[in-house]
Amino acid sequence: MNYISTRGQVPAVSFSTAVEQGLAPDGGLYLPEELPDLSNKLADWESLEYAALCEEFFALFATDIKRDQLHEIVQGSYNKFDATEIAPIVKLSESCSVLELFHGPTLAFKDFALQLLGNFYAHQIARTGRTIAVLGATSGDTGAAAIHGLLDKVGVNTFILYPEGRISALQERQMTCTGAETVFPLAIQGSFDDAQTAMKTVFEDRDFAAEVGLSAVNSINLARILAQCVYYLSAFFRLPKASREQITFVVPTGNFGNVLAGWLVQRMGVPIKGFRVATNQNDILHRLFDCGRYELEAVAPSLAPSMDIQVASNFERFLYYAVDCDPSKVRDIIHTFKSTGCYVFEDFDRASFTSSRTSDVQISEIIKQVYDQFGYVVDPHTACGFAPVENTGPELILATAHPAKFPDTIEASIGIGTTHHSLDILKQRAIVKYSVEPTPAAIKAFMRARL
Ligand SMILES: *Cc1c(COP(=O)(O)O)cnc(C)c1O
Repeated sequence: MNYISTRGQVPAVSFSTAVEQGLAPDGGLYLPEELPDLSNKLADWESLEYAALCEEFFALFATDIKRDQLHEIVQGSYNKFDATEIAPIVKLSESCSVLELFHGPTLAFKDFALQLLGNFYAHQIARTGRTIAVLGATSGDTGAAAIHGLLDKVGVNTFILYPEGRISALQERQMTCTGAETVFPLAIQGSFDDAQTAMKTVFEDRDFAAEVGLSAVNSINLARILAQCVYYLSAFFRLPKASREQITFVVPTGNFGNVLAGWLVQRMGVPIKGFRVATNQNDILHRLFDCGRYELEAVAPSLAPSMDIQVASNFERFLYYAVDCDPSKVRDIIHTFKSTGCYVFEDFDRASFTSSRTSDVQISEIIKQVYDQFGYVVDPHTACGFAPVENTGPELILATAHPAKFPDTIEASIGIGTTHHSLDILKQRAIVKYSVEPTPAAIKAFMRARL
């Protein structure tokens, strides 16, 4: 299987190259040349445990990695999770269940992809002998998950940009208290979008990318999307057989990565009914699915900071399919959006999507309501999944983070504290972080000085 760019201006590459590069050299995102049909595999995969399912799935995509090596990579990726089912489902009522994706080492769903990605990098470094400089921008959880997926990998240096003061204190500790000498948390003055824009420009400098062995761990990396596909499959198999095809998956989203993974699984022939894109007050995706207008607005910091995003990078992958896999149309639309901040789709095909928006006031109300009704504590991101919507049938809400990552919001909403032993340990350690301007030149200079 080869991988093509959504912008169609570079040749197709192998799985390992697509993973190593992250972003395609033409600025596009990698996608499989064709999507496999999973419908004839479902019966065989139904009873597999999580890591085995992940291995079968990746065997279809990572075709340039030998099966025994793939086995090792995948097996080592889910052994730091503290739930035997890895992604357990908790039933709250007849019509509402939660898919808990926060049992990994940094207590957010991003561990699913970044634990695995760390092992793919290690494999790649062992094979090529080339070191890798990872550059990422984070709205909180990606950075923590990336750092914990990479910190013990020989040959990987990790640079993570984050908006200072706009992520939770515990998220910052997860990034800055590792003690690892190959990890550089870079605090910037600005928003997540500022960090992401600067990062993307650094990637567009091909000479620099080649010089330092630059790689991306943001959800633009295809391996992340594919890793996330696996919990949709796993959840589908764990839902009651009689009703699983009637259940809508509700996905708290910002960068469109998580929900894209589910949509790809559906496109590969798994009969998932559909998806609800659940945004916070930064609702560009809600407005898109509501009225076909993809229009940039300023980011307004919210109680669900990992979703404080307006430019949803992974939307470009969905767009590629929406314009019938025509890269020239993708380029035109991205160009218009970049130069005017807006693109209006005529006859926008919503396909299997609905959407919702949740304000900060509602987030607090929902945390309280869910706690009062079910005795279950949800984090502020997951709370967006509980937005009141017209009854569209049973839902499975993806719980994207452990509530203990956001103790202040939980405390303010329901008056009780939340904690987790892994976070208590971090509070004893010193914070190490660096300050840089969110400009490509400053970032490149910092990286050169450290490598
Ligand atoms: C990253 C993150 C999200 C948003 O995920 P996307 O892939 O950007 O849609 C939602 N919730 C939490 C807790 C996150 O860390």
